[in-house]
Amino acid sequence: CGIVGYIGHREAYPIVIKGLKRLEYRGYDSAGVMLYDDESGIKVCKTKGKVSDLEAKSQEGFTINGNIGIGHTRWATHGVPNDVNSHPHVSNSGDLVIIHNGIIENYAPLKEELIKRGYTFKSDTDTEVLVNLIEEVQKNEKIKLGKAVQIALNQVVGAYAIAVFDKKNPNEIVAARLGSPLAIGVGEGEYFIASDASPFIEYTSNAVYLEDGEMANIRLHKPLKIRKIKDDSLVDPYIQELQM
Ligand code: GLU
Repeated sequence: CGIVGYIGHREAYPIVIKGLKRLEYRGYDSAGVMLYDDESGIKVCKTKGKVSDLEAKSQEGFTINGNIGIGHTRWATHGVPNDVNSHPHVSNSGDLVIIHNGIIENYAPLKEELIKRGYTFKSDTDTEVLVNLIEEVQKNEKIKLGKAVQIALNQVVGAYAIAVFDKKNPNEIVAARLGSPLAIGVGEGEYFIASDASPFIEYTSNAVYLEDGEMANIRLHKPLKIRKIKDDSLVDPYIQELQM
């Protein structure tokens, strides 16, 4: 399973696809990508199978432009490997998009509560519960994505590396980790996200590795903001120089 993300001035699609291929060694059963551009909004393409199957599927009526993208390879834990259970998952409003490696252990009671509040679910995944939980928190508190992700994660038991996108504020990706690895590549006017540095090492040699329990606001043309999910304390990003 793997995560790749990009926000910057390049086309995201080739970076994400190539990155997912570099992460294939981690094992997976499905693959998916979300691209965003102002004109066409959120576009999601996902499939059971290989990254090459995703590439083939994305040639059928899926416009592959956009400078923001997230991609995922899934190793199914909740819900069989099929197209619908593949990531990314989109929230009920259509605003939020998530990719997730790991397990949300208490997804069942959270899902029950969300269903009571009118949410519907397309997939059998724990991940779709998390993205709708984030949406519900954001709606109730009228807060930005980062804060909503933080509050939601503090209600979650489990393990995760996630990247979340909100089309209401499309210059940002929020990432977090607990028990699954996540690296952030820091370029000039661009950021990369990945399960390890291999998807972005050809673009930048500066990387920040999130520690367990940390989350990051990855914003275009703004410095990286890293904080502890539990107590909201800020962490100075430690930028490592990668050996090319
Ligand atoms: N638990 C999630 C699912 O089954 C994520 C699995 C993964 O780590 O790829 O969809």
